[in-house]
Amino acid sequence: MGISYFNSLTRQVEPFVPLDPAGKTVSIYTCGPTVYNYAHIGNFRAYVFEDLLQRHLEFRGYTVDRVMNLTDVDDKTIRGCHAAGLPLAEFTQPFKDAFFQDLEALRIKPADHFPAATEAVHIARMIEMIATLIERGHAYQADDGSVYFRINSFPAYGRLAHLNLDELRPSGRVNSDEYEKENIADFALWKAWSEADGDVVWESPWGRGRPGWHIECSAMATGILGPQIDIHCGGEDNIFPHHEAEIAQSECVTGHSFVKLWMHCKHLLVENQKMSKSAGNFYTLRDLLGKGHTGREVRYALLSVKYREPLNFTFEGLDAARSALARFDEWSRRLQDAAGPAAEPLPEDLKTEAFGAALDDDLNASAALGALFELIRETNKRLDAGTLTPGQARSLLAWRDEVNSILRFESEAVAIPAEVEALLARRAEARASKDWAGSDRLRDEIAALGWTVKDTKEGQKLSKI
Ligand SMILES: [Zn+2]
Repeated sequence: MGISYFNSLTRQVEPFVPLDPAGKTVSIYTCGPTVYNYAHIGNFRAYVFEDLLQRHLEFRGYTVDRVMNLTDVDDKTIRGCHAAGLPLAEFTQPFKDAFFQDLEALRIKPADHFPAATEAVHIARMIEMIATLIERGHAYQADDGSVYFRINSFPAYGRLAHLNLDELRPSGRVNSDEYEKENIADFALWKAWSEADGDVVWESPWGRGRPGWHIECSAMATGILGPQIDIHCGGEDNIFPHHEAEIAQSECVTGHSFVKLWMHCKHLLVENQKMSKSAGNFYTLRDLLGKGHTGREVRYALLSVKYREPLNFTFEGLDAARSALARFDEWSRRLQDAAGPAAEPLPEDLKTEAFGAALDDDLNASAALGALFELIRETNKRLDAGTLTPGQARSLLAWRDEVNSILRFESEAVAIPAEVEALLARRAEARASKDWAGSDRLRDEIAALGWTVKDTKEGQKLSKI
């Protein structure tokens, strides 16, 4: 059975077939953060979902070429830098740095390309695309000096968001980057300089100004990945107007169908409520780490619900993540202790395929986790009964490593302090010379530093208390 994913454009689950005639490489474009603030956990739900998507494709043998952009000029970043009294680049840099730290804490695989909208090569491409759109009658410069996309020149406009343009009756123009479907109108490609922009300004054939948010993504996506992309993803709030505009701009310039598969994850609620600063339930990753939760616990909580279901993020859920991960750790430890050197085939009733099959079925992460924990329960039972052979334990460890290449649930690497290492070495000497009293005393000293030591056939094994 192959992979199937839900396509937001057709609203159907479709078999996944890459554009690459060799069927090997998959291109993915994901709308990255707008660096005017720290990303919040709603943003990270989308980024963790996209990480799962990439790792699932790699698990199934594809090579992924992925772009995640950084929006470092738009209405929000400009407002932010003026409020902070800083030049734009100085204002956005700490949020870019923080974003990369957060990705690492959440174990999200870095994209192959992280273009930023303000890089000269991308600004040049935006200007080039806008010139082509004007030339072909898809855009025009209005009295206010800004350049707008003429939406009635592109009959497919509205298809992704499933808009009925007759009912919505688009009219006029809209200059802001974000707006509601009710205000649908010709949108800005190039915004003429206004006082509010301050020193955020570039020269263009239409006078001084700056790009609109939507053209940034079209330019970076087609500039790096070419006119056609396998998968474009983001949060569902990106569908309108952002992705709708990306399709119109890109297709009118390249003449190709822009994206084969559109994937969007649903929104996130916090304790059953919409997250907002005023409701006091607005969390960045740093907030959660500050409360003593770990990156992998947050990753688990964000992964555990299928991407097309709304996720209700709760502190109870984070506690549940902690105990699920403790079970995963304990199972890994037991397998390691039980494993022999050579792998043996697993009996048929240990169903290792169920995990991958659940992900093949439109990335059903909750079913995949269900399959994993079912297997953990079953193998623990056999470990208790002594019916799991050392060879089977070795095979299960190899399977765990495969599964974990997608999940990245391994425990944080715990460095053994030098002091403990030294005691451990002295204890090994004491045991070699059969000084059992000395060995026990050293065990107590090690315990006082927060570690337990177990004696096994392979020697002393250390674990954190
Ligand atoms: Zn975008």
